[in-house]
Amino acid sequence: EAVVNQIAAGEIIQRPVNALKEMLENSLDAGATSISVTVKDGGNKLLQIQDNGHGVDREDLPLLCQRHATSKLREYEDLTSINTLGFRGEALASISYIAHLTVTTMTHGATHGLKVAYRDGVMDPAGPKPCAANPGTTILVEDLFYNSSTRKKALKASSDEYGRILDMLGCYAVFKAGVAFSCKKQGESKPDLHTMAGSSRLDNIRTVHGAAVARALLPFKATQGATGTAVLEEDAASFTAEGYASGPDYNGKKTQLILFINGRPVDCSPLKRAIEATYAAVLPKGYKPFVFLELQLPGDHVDVNLHPTKHEVGFLHQDALIEQLCAALDSLLTAYDT
Ligand code: ADP
Ligand code: MG
Repeated sequence: EAVVNQIAAGEIIQRPVNALKEMLENSLDAGATSISVTVKDGGNKLLQIQDNGHGVDREDLPLLCQRHATSKLREYEDLTSINTLGFRGEALASISYIAHLTVTTMTHGATHGLKVAYRDGVMDPAGPKPCAANPGTTILVEDLFYNSSTRKKALKASSDEYGRILDMLGCYAVFKAGVAFSCKKQGESKPDLHTMAGSSRLDNIRTVHGAAVARALLPFKATQGATGTAVLEEDAASFTAEGYASGPDYNGKKTQLILFINGRPVDCSPLKRAIEATYAAVLPKGYKPFVFLELQLPGDHVDVNLHPTKHEVGFLHQDALIEQLCAALDSLLTAYDT
């Protein structure tokens, strides 16, 4: 039983970044406005995330790592209208099967915090211990894959895993510009990623990706059927898109598309290829764009039941939508170029 759960968990959490993304989304779901990450050995040894979200009530602690225990889904029908990132109640459970997990939490207004460890889906029978804490939740994940030598061997060098962590956090730092993010290696005082709560998306692109990119960005907006106007064709895709696209004054080493669809970071290879083709038609050959795009689609048009490690997303009317997006991008670039 434990082994089966452990294997299943290893499918969901393959690298430190998968665990961190799940925990980060929990922090955002908890309404955090400040999120600090500490990492040792690229997360292979230690991964800690501290937030100032609403915390966990004492009576909810025993179920925290139980599979399919989620506080976010009251009814099955909620699935099409979910606005929280997590809803399957699988992440913390999975992590507890393949690592040592310790939770410290304090609800706002409580006089003290509570600290408790979990193993294989189960809370330490000794129960939560009172401790000093700040309002919010800190989750500590140690010794990832301590019980699976195969999985452990599949982990990459610390620098590689740390790079993935910084990339993932950087995407969220731009998308959730209202939230302060920081990430550092354990024992270091200087963070490798640091954004402020009051900054804009453009500020955070500058912080994360550098001033040269930020300077060359053009604001991008496209929409259809989202402003109360009737959608004429029955099967037309309705969407809003907002973001930044690099203009001619910048050229990257590779194409970068940072894409969020309905609040989730995803990959969409057909969209990426279409964007590259749009740039190739307007700007000199070999130009490598930087594009940040937030896309809103009707909830039931996107496959929300994404596997945590599967980032490639599919949605309805994909071709039509990509065509419209790229037409808007083309006008933006053409207008700038002339
Ligand atoms: P899900 O996010 O799908 O509900 P998880 O396994 O990721 O499942 O988390 C289980 C539950 O633990 C959540 O539903 C939430 O109630 C609680 N939780 C996890 N992390 C936090 C956090 N940082 N702050 C507050 N509550 C949390
Ligand atoms: Mg979750």
